Amino acid sequence: MSENVVGICSLPLAIATNFLIDGKDYLVPMAIEEPSVVAGASHGAKLVREGGGFTTEATPPLMIGQIQVLDLTDPYEALERVLDAKGRLLEEANKVDPVIVGLGGGARDIEPRVIDSPRGPMLVLHLLYDVRDAMGANVINTTLETIAPLVEEITGGRVNLRIISNLADRRLARAQATVPQEALTFDGFEGKEVVERILEAHAFAQADPYRAATHNKGIMNGIDGLALATGNDWRAIEAGAHAYAARNGRYSPLTSWHEDERGNLRGSIELPISVGIVGGATRANPTAKVALKILGVNSARELARVMAAVGLAQNLAALRALATEGIQRGHMALHARNVALSVGVPEEYLDRVVDQMVEERKIRPDRAQEIARKLESSR
Ligand code: NAD
Repeated sequence: MSENVVGICSLPLAIATNFLIDGKDYLVPMAIEEPSVVAGASHGAKLVREGGGFTTEATPPLMIGQIQVLDLTDPYEALERVLDAKGRLLEEANKVDPVIVGLGGGARDIEPRVIDSPRGPMLVLHLLYDVRDAMGANVINTTLETIAPLVEEITGGRVNLRIISNLADRRLARAQATVPQEALTFDGFEGKEVVERILEAHAFAQADPYRAATHNKGIMNGIDGLALATGNDWRAIEAGAHAYAARNGRYSPLTSWHEDERGNLRGSIELPISVGIVGGATRANPTAKVALKILGVNSARELARVMAAVGLAQNLAALRALATEGIQRGHMALHARNVALSVGVPEEYLDRVVDQMVEERKIRPDRAQEIARKLESSR
């Protein structure tokens, strides 16, 4: 699958629970090394379940491929010629992957535009292509390379890049959820107050990119975990999500939160999700294959809808914790265990070292070694 391979780098594979999405229960496999992410997703999903679960939707799986055309005397005239030859270009594009075309997918449209660049104006063609159940990068890239000579012939220009765009803004997934106010009551916090604090936290992310980046990172913790578990290209999803978050010229949160007329918390998320249940590593990697089986999705669109729900659940859990008790409490035990393992604390002392560090609120490698040494000498 890769070059110069010398080993396998494994990650914990976990199952996030409580997900009720469009009336169907899901067990969500996640590959992630960060403590509290799986617990957070499961907790967020539990809160949403009390409000009836997630409602989701996904657009058809339309990906964008780009062709850059240069050395044109008149880029606008070349643009007109592309529009006139659209039928021919689409026909050529649809010869490349008979499997996808046979499944009802394929090239849908060509959108040319002239953009200004530091090296002057250039013509850029967008090929809109329905990739069905694939992530689609290979399909798109092959198609672009195939039609590039025809583009040169039509425009009289020189094609430089021919590559998929990871800003997959024609392939969006959305999820919505309502959490009853009373479900948010815990440990001395009234539900009403928790709703208010979550809205304050959301406003912070709306107003400040420094906060929005972390807000979105939390969302991607869950989405990436599911992407990785199912053998999907999480870098592609990351790139798309962050570019989408900045689409209005200002980096913004991918979720939004409101209080409904009954005082319940209502949230939604929208982001591009380019994932597959065929192709790439989804079937070649045995663990990914099992993860897809556990999840039980039947299409790439369904996987994208689940991912949107996971992102929303993750965000809810993070905001709830951050706006109340803070995230460290939940984090500490696993973090302490990682610290103790990193300095080689023997298995027999591990639990005691972890417990003591958490109790003292001193989670450091030197402290772990010190406690382990004391336990050893008092044997
Ligand atoms: P792919 O080429 O492995 O598989 C897709 C193929 O599967 C299709 O061409 C089709 O012939 C076949 N197929 C069978 N059943 C299908 C169905 N139901 N729906 C759709 N296709 C079906 O995979 P891909 O999705 O084209 O490419 C994904 C890979 O490309 C990922 O591994 C990704 O990392 C990589 N990649 C990404 C980028 C990027 O994101 N910028 C660039 C290059 C490569």
